[in-house]
Amino acid sequence: MSGEPAALGAADGVRDMDRIDIKSLTLEELTGQVKAMGLPAYRAGQIYQWLHEKQAASFGEMSNLPLPLRTQLGGQYELAALKQADVRISAIDGTRKYLFALSDGNVIESVLMRYHYGNSVCISSQVGCRMGCRFCASTLDGLERNLRPSEMLDQIYRIGQDTGERVSHVVVMGSGEPLDNYDNLLRFIRILSGEKGLCVGQRNITVSTCGLVPQMLRLAEERLQITLALSLHAASDETRRRLMPVANRYPLREVLDACKVYFEKTGRRMTFEYSLVRGVNDSPDEAQALARLLKDQHGHVNLIPVNPIQERDYVQSGREAVEAFKNHLEKNGINVTIRREMGRDIQGACGQLRRSYIREKEDKDD
Ligand code: SAH
Repeated sequence: MSGEPAALGAADGVRDMDRIDIKSLTLEELTGQVKAMGLPAYRAGQIYQWLHEKQAASFGEMSNLPLPLRTQLGGQYELAALKQADVRISAIDGTRKYLFALSDGNVIESVLMRYHYGNSVCISSQVGCRMGCRFCASTLDGLERNLRPSEMLDQIYRIGQDTGERVSHVVVMGSGEPLDNYDNLLRFIRILSGEKGLCVGQRNITVSTCGLVPQMLRLAEERLQITLALSLHAASDETRRRLMPVANRYPLREVLDACKVYFEKTGRRMTFEYSLVRGVNDSPDEAQALARLLKDQHGHVNLIPVNPIQERDYVQSGREAVEAFKNHLEKNGINVTIRREMGRDIQGACGQLRRSYIREKEDKDD
């Protein structure tokens, strides 16, 4: 039980100042750490089980470890544990929106949605976001910092514990651009879907991106079975640039080529998200152009009536326009679903609850 934890790479997701973030380590890495401490390898399995299956919030809870080891672990490692700052429960559909406080005082939000196929948790991947999409509340204050793998995992663990129900599906569609936090995202997926831990199957994990082409291509090579969702939102570069600054960096042609590569390498069909904004991207012409653009892609379109945010004057497309858009795509052989709005009464859209919390806090401090 002596010696320092084995040196780990400088991955910013694992080291917090001088203590290693133990919940961000894979089982192999934890085994390496445990061996370097002169302990038998089975201790790694026990610790990992406490962290990822029993989801202990402190080393003190790890009752099958000798007390001196618990103390030693507490001195050498950081154990990230989110604090529930708020929860709002939708009276309409039981959706639960959580606000969690991180150890540095930042707050993030996560959502639990109940579907017929199981419980799905939508997690944040960053505090804030730097992508600047015009209709999105998460990006209004820019990027604060990346979330560590442990902080992504703990959103799911805390929600599972709060409800006492199994989380079967995870979507990385909360605040932040997951592919802008690539290494931590990958580590998160590997731990979440690994054989010990929560064991959420990769096919039940969806990662949504605004279209960072180099990272999409890199992801295609990772041999994962996750679903990749692309936030498309327009069928022309001109309209896309109006809504999403990232479109200035990567034209549609390149983004869609990357989607094809993703399908070819992984066999996983894409999801194309399309938020309908009245008068901006919801015309029949736009639907026609979208059908043309996607005709040789493998995947389906998920239409989302834009969720208006206070800071912008975008307006949701009307029910009829949404239906017409859908019909137009279907007539052209494209698979389409309309996203059921969940938690409308509890500020369900990305970043809204966090912003209202920060605003209230600022008002109080003034
Ligand atoms: N950064 C990632 C994931 C986070 S956002 C991405 O861009 O995909 C998840 C989805 O919600 C994205 O498709 C995003 O464009 C969309 N979205 C964000 N704000 C929205 C709003 N106010 N109304 C409708 N969709 C929104």
